[in-house]
Amino acid sequence: MSLQYSVLASGSTGNSLYIETEKHKLLVDCGLSGKRMVELLSHINRDPKDLDGILVTHEHSDHIKGLGVFARRFQIPIYANTKTWQAMSDSIGKIDNDQKFTFETGTVKEFGSLQIESFGVSHDAAEPMFFSFHHEDKKLTLLTDLGYVSDRIKGVIRESDAYIIEANHDIQMLMMGRYPWNIKRRILGDSGHISNEDAGLALSEVIGHNTKRIYLAHLSKDNNMKDLARMSVEQKLGQYGIQLGEDIGLFDTDPDTPTRLCAI
Ligand SMILES: [Zn+2]
Ligand SMILES: [Zn+2]
Repeated sequence: MSLQYSVLASGSTGNSLYIETEKHKLLVDCGLSGKRMVELLSHINRDPKDLDGILVTHEHSDHIKGLGVFARRFQIPIYANTKTWQAMSDSIGKIDNDQKFTFETGTVKEFGSLQIESFGVSHDAAEPMFFSFHHEDKKLTLLTDLGYVSDRIKGVIRESDAYIIEANHDIQMLMMGRYPWNIKRRILGDSGHISNEDAGLALSEVIGHNTKRIYLAHLSKDNNMKDLARMSVEQKLGQYGIQLGEDIGLFDTDPDTPTRLCAI
């Protein structure tokens, strides 16, 4: 049996990833309203009542906006590290103890045959973490919201079958754009977001012979465009001798439309 996934939504307006094996159905983040989360799941013919858990990467509102409402309504367990629990407690409202679980950074959590490896990233939140999902001999990595891709992270995410990776901004567009300087500096800094070029460069170092699909995620709506992101990543990979095409596909994600439910 395969590992199936859909990026339900991605971008500064809200993020959520759906993932399932034959036995378990999970979300990573719940960054849109509870109502919108139900609609997004219905696009891929999935029912919120069947979810076994929601993993939380960090407490920024584009990752937890609907979390409290949605988890309470459908009685879904929430998994986050201790510092993220503390940081988000005021925003998500009361969560029953039997729905509260800790998943610490740098540990592995198992849901049947699915092993989820968490790792820390540099980003301006309490203790942000992202995941590589291991299922049978397949691996899927989710990596957004980080200022730079460290060697440690590259080691963890190496040779994934699929990557959902941040391509937040085009550096030129950001620099020329209307954002005030302190915001620009935050985005460009070590605890901000990675650019299209950063994404391409990191991918060039971690792609393996098994890598089939790359999804560009968390695009800034002001400082990036889908075509530009794809072009920049493709160009960067080309510089390192990696050609996209039949072997490796490059895909968009969208702030408001789920990607096709896909299996690796
Ligand atoms: Zn975010
Ligand atoms: Zn964030």
